Amino acid sequence: MIAQINIDYTLCKDPLSCRKCLSVCPSVVFVCGPTKVWKGRETDLSEYKIVGRYFDKCSGCGDCVKSCPTDAINLEFLLREQLAQKFREERATQLRERNV
Ligand code: SF4
Ligand code: SF4
Repeated sequence: MIAQINIDYTLCKDPLSCRKCLSVCPSVVFVCGPTKVWKGRETDLSEYKIVGRYFDKCSGCGDCVKSCPTDAINLEFLLREQLAQKFREERATQLRERNV
C-alpha cells in the first residue's frame, strides 16, 4: 500500500507561516514551494503551496494529520496499481483540458 496525501488548499491558506506538517514528518515527505516562477519579479507569498511529494516514503504514522491546525490533510492508502491508475486518469484529464 502507498500513501496518498491530499491537502485541501481552501483550509491550508498560509503554508509558509505554518509548516507544522513539514516539521513533524519523520520521513520528510512534504515540500513547500512556489506554484509559479515569474521572470523578473519575486513570487508572491500567496503562491506558495505545501505538497506531499515523497509519498512513497510515508510510513502512515499520521503525525501530519494530527499536527495540522486546520484539518487540511487527508491520508488514504492505495495499492500500487490503483495509484498508477489514478495518475493515468489525472494525466488524461490534464491533457484533455489543455487541448480544449
Ligand atoms: S503520515 Fe507520517 S510519514 Fe506520512 S506524511 Fe504524515 S507525518 Fe509523514
Ligand atoms: S499543517 Fe496543515 S495548515 Fe499547516 S502547512 Fe501543513 S497542511 Fe497547511
